Amino acid sequence: MKVDVTLGIEYLKERTVFGSPLSKFEGIQFQVADNYIKLESARLLVYKAAWMLDKGSFSHTDLNKAIAAAKLAAPTAAFDIIKEVMMWLGAYGYTKEAGLERGLRGVISYIVGAEGAQNIMRLIIARELLGKD
Ligand SMILES: Cc1cc2nc3c(=O)[nH]c(=O)nc-3n(C[C@H](O)[C@H](O)[C@H](O)COP(=O)(O)OP(=O)(O)OC[C@H]3O[C@@H](n4cnc5c(N)ncnc54)[C@H](O)[C@@H]3O)c2cc1C
Repeated sequence: MKVDVTLGIEYLKERTVFGSPLSKFEGIQFQVADNYIKLESARLLVYKAAWMLDKGSFSHTDLNKAIAAAKLAAPTAAFDIIKEVMMWLGAYGYTKEAGLERGLRGVISYIVGAEGAQNIMRLIIARELLGKD
């Protein structure tokens, strides 16, 4: 099954509860807006770090901060968003058929540390902000 970013949005429009599509409930709409901001923020941090690397003119300090921030923010945002989309899909979201569990396991690998543990990203950012001493 193909899983893409529109899965949750499409489901919210289709699934009817208490006589209305889920998308009509304000509590759900707030989550959609917050998730959009989380996703865009993470995306911009990744683009910024990639742009700085391409430029080749930034200091190691600036690059370390930007890369660690992107590596910390992106999996955290992805984890939060996938978890919330799972909730929107109810019990179906929990099944293998929905495909979200695969996404969740994938992003957790980055949270555990496939590209460096999350606390290590925090340590790098703090070190560059506070100085080594
Ligand atoms: C899917 C996957 C793929 C991987 N692929 C590779 C690979 O290709 N090559 C490779 O070399 N490694 C790979 N790894 C290993 C990965 O780099 C390590 O798992 C990661 O760096 C964390 O190290 P650790 O597992 O020893 O945990 P630990 O270093 O024991 O950390 C455990 C926990 O303590 C926290 N922690 C550690 N130090 C501090 C500190 N000073 N202050 C506060 N908190 C701290 C961490 O954030 C973490 O939550 C992979 C890991 C995963 C999950």
